[in-house]
Amino acid sequence: MEHEQTARILVAGTGPAGLIAALGFAAAGFPVTLVGPEATAPDGRTTALMNPALKVLERLGVLEDIKPKAAPLKVMRIVDATSRLIRSPVVTFRASEIDEDQFGLNLPNSVLNPALASKVAAHAGIEWLKSMVATWHLDAEHVRAVLSDGSSVDASLAVAADGRLSPARQAAGISTSARSYPQAAFVLNFRHSSDHAFTSTEFHTETGPFTQVPLPGNRSSLVWVVRPETATELAALDDATLSMRVEQQMQSMLGRVTIEPGRQIYPLSAVTPLRFARDRVALVGEAAHVFPPIGAQGLNLGIRDVDDLIGIACENRSDPGAAKALAAYDFKRRPDILARSSAVTLLNMSLLSDMLPAQMARVAGLGALGGFAPLRAFFMREGLRPGSGFAALAGGLRRPAR
Ligand SMILES: Cc1cc2nc3c(=O)[nH]c(=O)nc-3n(C[C@H](O)[C@H](O)[C@H](O)COP(=O)(O)OP(=O)(O)OC[C@H]3O[C@@H](n4cnc5c(N)ncnc54)[C@H](O)[C@@H]3O)c2cc1C
Repeated sequence: MEHEQTARILVAGTGPAGLIAALGFAAAGFPVTLVGPEATAPDGRTTALMNPALKVLERLGVLEDIKPKAAPLKVMRIVDATSRLIRSPVVTFRASEIDEDQFGLNLPNSVLNPALASKVAAHAGIEWLKSMVATWHLDAEHVRAVLSDGSSVDASLAVAADGRLSPARQAAGISTSARSYPQAAFVLNFRHSSDHAFTSTEFHTETGPFTQVPLPGNRSSLVWVVRPETATELAALDDATLSMRVEQQMQSMLGRVTIEPGRQIYPLSAVTPLRFARDRVALVGEAAHVFPPIGAQGLNLGIRDVDDLIGIACENRSDPGAAKALAAYDFKRRPDILARSSAVTLLNMSLLSDMLPAQMARVAGLGALGGFAPLRAFFMREGLRPGSGFAALAGGLRRPAR
């Protein structure tokens, strides 16, 4: 590796996107400085990562150790549990239909995040400064981050993995369009008496989806999107009553439910920046896209941001923060980010909407998916990796969906 000619990368933020970016850039031979605190608050959520994102973790040497603590996702099911006039039939997606063993893995954040952090801490090519960026100075030649401990870091490129409020994004003068929804995600994990058979079921309701995702054993995680006041009411219930409510909502599909300790509430919002890079700052993860946790998209998209950014930086090793590299990144990420953000927003709005046309569009869409295997296969491939559904269609569906 020609280190003299390979410019320094500064990664700001130590959520999963920042840790993966630091590991990825270091693996690609860049000297990396990572700035951000070590996580201390427990996170009971789980993250469903699809096969392409898992391949990235595998390359970084993180997957092997955490795999035993994750559950494979083999079947995904959508149940229309609205009480609306027109309802869709159940739609089932099977990984085997597109010749895959699994769509991905559901990983507890309490396993994934510490595994990433310890890999970063042990990496000789990453300097981890456990501080915060206090001020950014961005100019034509380089970025300078002044940290809250008074020290400073210079680099060619700043990777903004500093979350939904992204101070780096603000410093680069990138404006955003933002909205908040009258919804919150109520999150917990639970045990059940019947086997989940590695199936995730998303029940569509009038307030948003209720999504069960398998964990190892007879356990699952739950993301239940409800009105904010309902989330507060649910969080205040005693264990037995809440277990019963979850079981009822699941139509007892997994038998008897016993909720585990640890309940979290996340208010839902969406943030879309008007551009994804500028002034030596490239946005990744939630700095680049925030939308409701529907369809397990967020970190999968964040990992694609990181992967694309590293690919472009490798073609611009001596100055990966140069304007032409950033323009290439913006151009590459724009369609994927905008498509995923608007698909999630549309689905969410069609659930909330009382308007018949929106409901009909959703039901017609789900009905078409349920009844027509090639269309289902197309969406499953597109869901895993953008472009691969089209690639399979272009190849005349060489391996037709069974
Ligand atoms: C309920 C729920 C369920 C979800 N489920 C899934 C799922 O199944 N699959 C999926 O793909 N995605 C899922 N997501 C989305 C996923 O959790 C997010 O995409 C992901 O956590 C974003 O990570 P991040 O690193 O971009 O941001 P964050 O985790 O918010 O990290 C930002 C980091 O930046 C740091 N920071 C901020 N300011 C500074 C500064 N000035 N200097 C240094 N550091 C700074 C913060 O301390 C923090 O560590 C879910 C989200 C929710 C809410």
